[in-house]
Amino acid sequence: MHFDLPEELVALSDAVADFANRRLTDDADAYERSGEFPYPLIREMGEAGFFGAPFPESVGGNEAGFMAVSIIAEEISRIAPAYGYAMNMQCATCPYTIYNWGTQEQIERFVPELISGRTIGMFALSEAGGGSDPAGAMRTTARREGDHYVLNGSKMWITFSNAADVGVLFAKTDPKATPAHKGVTAFIVEPKKFEGYSAQPIDMPGLSKSLRSCTIFLDDFKVPVENRLGEEGKGFGIAMNALEFGRLTVSARLTGLAQAALDASIAYANERVVGGGPIARHQLVQQRIADATVHVEAARLMARRIGWTMDQGRTSTRVASRGKYFATQAARLASDVAREVFGGNALTAEYPVQRLQSYIDMLTVGEGSENVQRVLIGEDALGIKDAARHTMRNRFVGVT
Ligand SMILES: Cc1cc2nc3c(=O)[nH]c(=O)nc-3n(C[C@H](O)[C@H](O)[C@H](O)COP(=O)(O)OP(=O)(O)OC[C@H]3O[C@@H](n4cnc5c(N)ncnc54)[C@H](O)[C@@H]3O)c2cc1C
Repeated sequence: MHFDLPEELVALSDAVADFANRRLTDDADAYERSGEFPYPLIREMGEAGFFGAPFPESVGGNEAGFMAVSIIAEEISRIAPAYGYAMNMQCATCPYTIYNWGTQEQIERFVPELISGRTIGMFALSEAGGGSDPAGAMRTTARREGDHYVLNGSKMWITFSNAADVGVLFAKTDPKATPAHKGVTAFIVEPKKFEGYSAQPIDMPGLSKSLRSCTIFLDDFKVPVENRLGEEGKGFGIAMNALEFGRLTVSARLTGLAQAALDASIAYANERVVGGGPIARHQLVQQRIADATVHVEAARLMARRIGWTMDQGRTSTRVASRGKYFATQAARLASDVAREVFGGNALTAEYPVQRLQSYIDMLTVGEGSENVQRVLIGEDALGIKDAARHTMRNRFVGVT
C-alpha cells in the first residue's frame, strides 16, 4: 500500500485546475450575472473528458476510473464550487446510473451524449415530504397506460432540472406497496421531449443563479415504456446504488471546498496585520489552522478510498457513507476556521468565506444528510443493518 498518486493522476489534477482557473472563473461569472445556464461550459468540461472517467471507451468514456473522478470533483469544487454539481449530473448520478442499470439500447442512446456534455442530466429522487425518507415520502405516481407510463406529482430540489434533456426519475408504480420502497420504479425521462413537465427554480441565497435546483411538476407526463430503467418495483435499489456514486463525488467536492477555505485562511492569516504583526503568529490561530489541515487531509484520503474501492469493482456503500460523513465534518471545521480567521471580512463579498460556507451547507444535506450517514454508519457498526445490503450490478470499469 502506498499513498502517492500515480503520475497520470497528478497530471490530471493539474490539468483540471488549469482548466477551472481558465474557463470556470471569468466566463462562469458572466453566466452568474445573467442567470443563464452555462451550456457551452458544461460542454467544454465534457469535451475535456471530466465526465468520462468511469466509463469505457465504447460509450465515449476515457476509463480513467473512479479515483480520477474524486480528483476531478475535488479540483473543480476547490476553484469553481458551483461546477462541482456537474460531476453528479453529467457523470455520477445520472449517466452512471443509466450505464449501470440500463439496457444496451438505453446506454447507447443516453450515456455518450451526457458525458460529452452535449445533453444535460438530472437525478430526481427527493420530494417535499422528506428527502431523508425518499420511499416513504414519495407521492409521485406512474400509471401504466398501453405503451406509456403517465406520471403525476412533483419533485423538490432537483439540480439542473430547468435545463435537463435527460433525467433518472423515480415514481411509485404501486403506491400501496409495503414496505414503501417496493413500489418505486426508475424511469429515464426526457423533459424537453415529453409534455406535462415544468421546473420552478428555488431561491437559495449564496448558491449559483445559473446552475440551479428547482421544484419540478409532472402533470400527466407521459414516459414511453422503453424508458423504464430496470424492472417495475426495483427502483429503490437503483436509487440507493446511485447515491453511492453520488457520495464519491460529494465527498471529493466537500474536500475541495474545505481546501479552498483552508487556503484562504492561511493566506489571510499571513497577510492580516493586527497589533503589529500577522495574526498567523498567534498560537490560537495556528491551532485552528492545524486542526483544519489534518481534517482536510483525512477527508481527502477517505474520498480517494471510495474511488479506489469502486475501481476494484467492490461495493462501496460503507466507505462511501463514512467518507461523506467525515468530509462534512472536515468542511464544516475548515469553514468555521475561515470565519474565525477572517473576522468581519468573512461576511463581505470581497472574500470567498460566505460563498464556500453556502456550498458546504448544501453538500452537508445532499446525498444523505449528516444524520442519515450517522444512522447508516451506526447501524452497520452495531451489526443491526449491513451498510452494503443493496444489490448492485457492479458494472465498473475496474481500473486499478
Ligand atoms: C441545493 C440542493 C440540491 C439538491 N439536489 C438534489 C437532486 O439533484 N436530486 C435529488 O433527488 N435531491 C436533491 N437534493 C435533496 C437532498 O438530497 C435532500 O435535501 C436531503 O436528502 C435531505 O432531505 P430534506 O431536505 O427533505 O430534509 P429532511 O429529510 O426533512 O430532514 C431534515 C433533518 O432531519 C434529519 N433527519 C431526517 N430523518 C432522520 C432520522 N431518521 N434520524 C435522524 N435525523 C433525521 C435530517 O438529517 C435533517 O437534518 C438537493 C438538496 C439541496 C439543498
